[in-house]
Amino acid sequence: MNRKPTLIFRLIFALGVLTLALPAAMAQNAMPTVYVKAGHLFDATSDDLRDNMVLVIEGERITKVAPAVQVPIPAGAKVVDLSQAWVLPGLIDCHTHLEARADHYDPIWEVRTTPFMGGFNGVVNANKTLQAGFTSVRDVGSQPFFAVDLRRAIDEGLFPGPRVVASGPAISITGGHGDMNSFAPGVENRMYPAERGYQLADGPEQVRHLVREQIKFGVDLIKVMATGGVLSLGDKPGAEQLTYEEMKMAVDEAHRAGRKVAAHAHGTQGIKDAVRAGVDSIEHGSLIDAEGIEMMKARGTYLVADIYNDDYILGKAVEFGLPKESVDKEKSLGRLQRENFAKAVAAGVKIAFGTDAGVYPHGDNAKQFDYMVKFGMTPAGAIRAATSSAADLIDRTHDVGTLEAGKYADLIAVAANPLERVESLEHVSFVMKGGKVYKDELSAAKP
Ligand SMILES: [Zn+2]
Repeated sequence: MNRKPTLIFRLIFALGVLTLALPAAMAQNAMPTVYVKAGHLFDATSDDLRDNMVLVIEGERITKVAPAVQVPIPAGAKVVDLSQAWVLPGLIDCHTHLEARADHYDPIWEVRTTPFMGGFNGVVNANKTLQAGFTSVRDVGSQPFFAVDLRRAIDEGLFPGPRVVASGPAISITGGHGDMNSFAPGVENRMYPAERGYQLADGPEQVRHLVREQIKFGVDLIKVMATGGVLSLGDKPGAEQLTYEEMKMAVDEAHRAGRKVAAHAHGTQGIKDAVRAGVDSIEHGSLIDAEGIEMMKARGTYLVADIYNDDYILGKAVEFGLPKESVDKEKSLGRLQRENFAKAVAAGVKIAFGTDAGVYPHGDNAKQFDYMVKFGMTPAGAIRAATSSAADLIDRTHDVGTLEAGKYADLIAVAANPLERVESLEHVSFVMKGGKVYKDELSAAKP
């Protein structure tokens, strides 16, 4: 009964807060202009490096990128001197799970911890990711609605982290990759049983409901489980799970609301049905065949292949209690995934960088660059997969992905040429996000 007055009161309160916040926003506009001297600039608008450039930053955004000779720097101006370094756009990882930890593979862990543990993990993992030079991530699967809250908390400045493009829990069939399988029927771990964890759906109408629910709670994209997985028990990575009709429903509902769809898909048929249903990216893509590659190329579907973490899963993860069933699945998939990635690259499929961070430790994301180059990409191509192409996939080309006037001042620097040794990206020594410096082991910065 008293709901309406409360709502009105809240609105008045919110307006009050807004008025108070205005001077703060104006103060931000008054931040001093920053001149970043870039010795070597890879702006990700092409595959080329340009020497002796200057980026002019006002507030959160870049206002100018030009050769140093064309940009007079006023005496006393704030300068960030990266003249000995290689400067690139902040990196983007399109497949992370910031809630997850790579030191607990025992399936019992899931029923022992409360959702709060995921939140604590997220605070730590977000910072590690940012420190590694990843200024944006797409988080593709977590408890409801961890990633949405993480995005809000970081945007509010509560703690440091990358910009987050948030999905909800990945939508799965009963008994599928997103379900908790192989326990007795009495074992449950659900915060929202009536909504089936905002995750489980059987039939197109249930999928429609879940997509709408997730959008209601603020997700930026929808993740669906097209096939089985490696780390789930009792299902087969190669087997199709959501049907074509179910995925078509997810895509139609999501696209109508301006949201993209990412499909977890290892199996050959599941990949094709997901592509045919219109998903925007195939995650993993392990068993893709020539026809699937042609379909992705024709439709412009992105491949986001996590081709580094195999090494971690078959090494450390076993020590941390990974069940034998998952070890066996990874052994049969890992090599094929890398070979098929190379075929997709050679065929000209669009590639976006995504690593499945959380399966291996957060902060090691850049280790995947070396694998992408070993399996067919040029260093510049691999870097653009993590910058300009990734921005396209996450629908943020107006904000991130390249270093150009108008974009956020999200940039990193490394001490060695990443076009010669792409591994240099594993040692990012300078990180700026939105004009604010989060790491600086490099510049001769004088205020
Ligand atoms: Zn994943």
